[in-house]
Amino acid sequence: MADATTPSAFTRSRRHRQDRISRYEDPNEIIARVKGERFREYRRLFEASGRGEIDLDYPVDLSIETIDYCNYACPYCPRVLDRGDGTRMDDATFRRIVDEFAEGTGGLGAIGFDSGEPLLDKTLESKIAYIDAKGICDIIVTTNAVYLTPDRARRLIEAGVTKLHISLDAATQETYTKTRGGSLENVERNVRSFMQIREEMGSLLPIVRCSFVKSELNAHEIESFAARWAPIVDYVEFQDCIDHSRLDTLYDYPVEPFWCHYPFQSVTLNAKGDIRPCCSFYNKHLVFGRVADGDTVGGVFGGERQKELRRQFKEGHDFDIVCRNCRVAPPASLGIRPQPLLREAALPPRGKF
Ligand code: SF4
Ligand code: SF4
Repeated sequence: MADATTPSAFTRSRRHRQDRISRYEDPNEIIARVKGERFREYRRLFEASGRGEIDLDYPVDLSIETIDYCNYACPYCPRVLDRGDGTRMDDATFRRIVDEFAEGTGGLGAIGFDSGEPLLDKTLESKIAYIDAKGICDIIVTTNAVYLTPDRARRLIEAGVTKLHISLDAATQETYTKTRGGSLENVERNVRSFMQIREEMGSLLPIVRCSFVKSELNAHEIESFAARWAPIVDYVEFQDCIDHSRLDTLYDYPVEPFWCHYPFQSVTLNAKGDIRPCCSFYNKHLVFGRVADGDTVGGVFGGERQKELRRQFKEGHDFDIVCRNCRVAPPASLGIRPQPLLREAALPPRGKF
């Protein structure tokens, strides 16, 4: 009988703004088999806090940007307008933050490198090894795979990364040129060799995801993308494209009550040391603390501003204008609505405000 880790049948599921085809019903169960009960406990805290069922004193999810730059300029990503200035987080700051997080969570948490292009940081693997040595359960890297060479693949696996999220978005070079801009052959070769190296090393981890952000540019390749990658990686995920074209100007949108899990479980730190409650690109308006000012991850999470966001979501009214804009920017679901591309002229705001 199949269980949550049965690898023989693909499962299809719909999550928030995401469709998934997976060889495992629950990829986290695979990690739990390797990491043990502590990983299950961390997932329990993560899920329950994200639903608002428990109140945490300290976040279980920390996103760290160690270098403020991306080698790509995807047309739907705010990085197309501002690739970043290359600021690097210094090692002392990185270690201080990780030490604090390890102590605050007792290791029952996740650290993700999901801003900019993490593999541009040539010391990424030693950072991951440092996090792993601190006993932190979940270590997540999100990459465009341009620099995912076989050498780095081996080093990432050895360092202890638990989840590798690879953004591809296309099944042909013609479409990849529009959605991302580099050599599809290069990144596909890197992904295939990563999977081969993981097998040769006899490692179940990291769990590997290939993702596809749906837009008018690539909607016709969804099926071929799924057919290509679902048999190779652990799961394939299709994500709705989010409209970021109004990021810089906030409008006084009314919204229906809605829920956002981030303030209940997360904190994000960028390379400059700004501390924010979530990883949305709208977080540029929500700088709740600064490492340079002596602020801490725990201090921001337990601070008045993040508490206030939690209150708004729990009570379902008086939402912060930043969250209302983040919410109203609608997903350009497959074939439903053309996605305004940031590479093109900025769109006028909807309605009058
Ligand atoms: S979507 Fe990812 S790869 Fe593309 S520009 Fe943004 S950060 Fe870079
Ligand atoms: S801006 Fe607000 S609604 Fe959007 S992800 Fe952040 S906390 Fe959630």
